[in-house]
Amino acid sequence: MPQIKRILILGGGFGGINLLKLIQKKFKNEPNVRISLVSKDNYFLYTPMLPQVSSGLIHPSDITIPIRKLCKQAEFYQATISLIDLEQKLVTITRTFDGKVRALDYDYLIMSLGSSTNFFDYKNIEEHAFVMKTVEDAIAIHNQIINMFENAAQTSDVNFKKKLMTFTVVGAGFAGVETMGEINYLVRESVKNFYPSIGEENISMNLIASEEFILPELGSKLGKDAGEYLRKSGVNVITNTKAIDAGEDFVQLDNGEKISCMTLIWAAGIKIDPVISLLKCDHHKSGKVKVGKYLRLTNHENVFALGDCALITNPLTGQAYPPTAQNSIHQSKTVANNLYSMITGKTKLKEFSFESKGMMTTLGRRVAIAVVYGLHCKGSLAWLIWRTYYLSKLPMHEKRFQVATSWIADLLFKRDLTFVGKIKKKSLTKVNIKGDMPSIKDFFKDL
Ligand SMILES: Cc1cc2nc3c(=O)[nH]c(=O)nc-3n(C[C@H](O)[C@H](O)[C@H](O)COP(=O)(O)OP(=O)(O)OC[C@H]3O[C@@H](n4cnc5c(N)ncnc54)[C@H](O)[C@@H]3O)c2cc1C
Repeated sequence: MPQIKRILILGGGFGGINLLKLIQKKFKNEPNVRISLVSKDNYFLYTPMLPQVSSGLIHPSDITIPIRKLCKQAEFYQATISLIDLEQKLVTITRTFDGKVRALDYDYLIMSLGSSTNFFDYKNIEEHAFVMKTVEDAIAIHNQIINMFENAAQTSDVNFKKKLMTFTVVGAGFAGVETMGEINYLVRESVKNFYPSIGEENISMNLIASEEFILPELGSKLGKDAGEYLRKSGVNVITNTKAIDAGEDFVQLDNGEKISCMTLIWAAGIKIDPVISLLKCDHHKSGKVKVGKYLRLTNHENVFALGDCALITNPLTGQAYPPTAQNSIHQSKTVANNLYSMITGKTKLKEFSFESKGMMTTLGRRVAIAVVYGLHCKGSLAWLIWRTYYLSKLPMHEKRFQVATSWIADLLFKRDLTFVGKIKKKSLTKVNIKGDMPSIKDFFKDL
């Protein structure tokens, strides 16, 4: 009997999902290869369009792709990864729906677990800030903005109204700037069209950047241009400044300024999940695992890491690749090739090297800024390039259709200002599980 090779992918984000698609094709005619993927959500989230969910431009379901629809010949486990044992070749997972623990073994392991929000030990900020990482975060921000409108529309106290209508975003990388661009448009248009009693003069939008200019990834020229555009659109861009404290109704900056506001959105840094940062292998001080040129761990040649959770050095510049979706996608191509090479011996191992052709970001309605093949571009043309590129990269035709429909609807109609309240959850802890998985009968018995 030929030996079965088990490939286990951890993480259903950009790295994990692209790898899944590639290796399903590569191993299509290899019946002895078993592929499994574990991720805590049962969908892939297309983050570049997440800020558009917070502004109500698109719907959450437009950018969430069910992982099962992408599993052509792979097993999917919706679960949280709680432990990785590189010596025993075991991964312990906790199932999302009932909290039960089980272990999965593997011959080849690929870790693409991304990152989470880093508050740099500012506990008060962590307690009071919204973040922009998950689809729930984006919905929560949308709800918060609508909530502020409804409250501000009913108060005659001007100071309180101003506080309700002050929105502060900390962090001026892609996520922070795109979020500010989106919510600035939503707030200003909604007050003009639907909340005349609030008064546009009471709106205040603040973007806090720790560096001299925003979007440092795009260089100083475009970063300064982007800052200039946001200022013209009414955003108070505060550079060379950090937020160091926050409360229910304020944000304290390290330049001594205290912003009176009810809404703080933190997009200022990432950190690595302890399941990765505590692994027994080489790490960077950020907690990322270090991998070699074939994207494998040094002492574990059957283990690969990619995406935000891996430290991968660009052989041409000696610098680490930044945490972007683009890099994760390209790294997944190298991992797919190297897995195929190791399992079948039909190809050679490939070293990872990738030079980005461009970067771009939106700044609000119909405005973006981009560097493509070294050429700088801004305004409506950049916005068109952004939309075309990111729409084309969205997995699945039906999702592309949904997003395009939402964008067209936005050109024709005003934004939806519905407050989607808290969703009631049904606990499944009472379900009595027999054996490994519950039967349908058991599953519904106690509900
Ligand atoms: C708002 C926003 C906008 C962005 N815009 C852009 C952009 O325009 N262009 C760009 O290139 N990049 C952008 N990025 C960055 C990009 O999203 C990341 O660099 C990319 O997602 C990293 O891919 P990954 O596979 O490493 O991780 P992710 O895509 O984050 O995937 C990690 C996966 O692992 C799962 N996971 C994590 N921990 C566990 C666990 N313990 N157990 C089970 N599952 C787990 C997660 O649920 C997720 O499915 C943006 C990010 C954000 C937040």
